[in-house]
Amino acid sequence: MRLASLAPLLALAGCGFPTQPEQSRAEEVVWRGTFAAPDAPPPIEWRQDECGGPLAGARYEGQCYAGLYLRGDRALVAWRGSFHQSAYAHELMHALQWSRGIEDPQHLRPEWTLVDAANRALDGDGL
Ligand SMILES: [Zn+2]
Repeated sequence: MRLASLAPLLALAGCGFPTQPEQSRAEEVVWRGTFAAPDAPPPIEWRQDECGGPLAGARYEGQCYAGLYLRGDRALVAWRGSFHQSAYAHELMHALQWSRGIEDPQHLRPEWTLVDAANRALDGDGL
């Protein structure tokens, strides 16, 4: 049946953005498992924008990013083949900091080591 065959392509998160396969497992690993965050993570808008190099980016206001957290709204993240190769955990850390009233655009605070730990955990889980 034609409509049913399209259903997997149209799977949407509650926020309305299409999700990557296994995104809920990745969210569990990063947000709950590594960051121990109690609240909900921000919506993720996956992007594969052409940025003039070998890797896809996320274009926003004329600039290209691996990822960009739009404060209090959502994170744009360029999909680079897996969660741990994308800036997924990195942007979730920006969101976590923002939810706690912390602005740390230079990544100077100690909790950034959790991003490396999250990416290792994702890699170890094949994500
Ligand atoms: Zn950053």
